[in-house]
Amino acid sequence: MLIVKKFGGSSVRDAERIKNVADRVIRDYNEGHDIVVVLSAMGDTTDNYIKLAHELNERPSKREMDMLMTTGEQISVALLAMAIQAKRVPAVSLNAFQVGMETTSDFMHARLKRIQTQRLKNELENRKVVIVTGFQGVNRNDDFTTLGRGGSDTTAVALASVLHADLCEIYTDVDGIYTADPRVVPNAKKLDEITYDEMLELASLGAKVLHNRSVEMAKKYGVPLVVRSSLVDAEGTVVKEDVPVEKMLIKGVTCDKNVAKLAVIGLKNEPGVAFKLFNILARYDVNVDIILQSIGRNETKDISFTVAKEYLDDAIDALNDVNAGISFEKIHYDVDVAKVSIVGAGMMTHAGVAAKMFEALYNANVNINMISTSEIKITVLVHADDANRTVKAIHDMFE
Ligand code: ASP
Ligand code: MG
Repeated sequence: MLIVKKFGGSSVRDAERIKNVADRVIRDYNEGHDIVVVLSAMGDTTDNYIKLAHELNERPSKREMDMLMTTGEQISVALLAMAIQAKRVPAVSLNAFQVGMETTSDFMHARLKRIQTQRLKNELENRKVVIVTGFQGVNRNDDFTTLGRGGSDTTAVALASVLHADLCEIYTDVDGIYTADPRVVPNAKKLDEITYDEMLELASLGAKVLHNRSVEMAKKYGVPLVVRSSLVDAEGTVVKEDVPVEKMLIKGVTCDKNVAKLAVIGLKNEPGVAFKLFNILARYDVNVDIILQSIGRNETKDISFTVAKEYLDDAIDALNDVNAGISFEKIHYDVDVAKVSIVGAGMMTHAGVAAKMFEALYNANVNINMISTSEIKITVLVHADDANRTVKAIHDMFE
């Protein structure tokens, strides 16, 4: 088998942990498998680099940020290669340039375009463990780029895809995907299996186990994924296309506190208003999430929506842009909100899921600000102080 194994920063944070990774890799290698390892930078390296950069320059250039950040992964891959070689197993570390991981030019959030496989295949044919830097790429000017925070998962899935790997294993410091954050809901359960779509929702709703682009890519190319612990020997969670329907339809309850709610009050109640409003937001690159329109007083209407917190200022600028041609009375905003969602494939075809969720909130005396639904999730916007209570109440209800 060809196995791609990705280890996150906490799994390689010191010499001890790196040795532990080496042992795991060697165990599978000795069973005759071909192994490609993808690593993140050690521990908090990337965070520390970012802090350091901002001490020297308030707005460091993105090119230099990538030049800096890509060194983190280069350290961890070299150290792991040494640790494996120390056990007399052949290994080689490669960075994105050496592999030929071609990306777009967008520093700090580049996208993979093409991955050369020749070097990788040659090394594998020579029975070497191949260790590749996660998170990084090279643009067409031969500058280093990075794929965005958490991007090593995407590197791993992309390599698994181009190499037609039999399995892509994501090792982390938790032992799988849980029905809720175990720190908030102590009786949260580990899932044995989950679909790509469910995982995608969980990943983008703030369950930070997998980079959501990695899940998108795994789904698109049918890469068999498993999330498991680098510390204990346990089965982990398999992410795949179809999962037999179990009794519990709900796969998870997630909470995202990185949201702000905006309300544009006193808009004209006429055609084209929503278009103009969301058009200008799009022009300012503001991603909008939940949208709600309601009728106001005197022939007016109000439109409320949520954005990630970092887009709040841009959203307000956009709405006040005279070129947008929208007139309104005022804007309200609130950053003390949280999105709580339940995720589960096929739940919209099962009547009563929403009612049960709202009943849980009623019992817990939580007020709902906004609601949105899709095929596989229901999201409510609540006050940030109610967030943890809401997650627990919903989780208990569906247990
Ligand atoms: N080291 C990078 C980060 O901290 C990439 C990764 O860990 O996936 O975001
Ligand atoms: Mg990660």
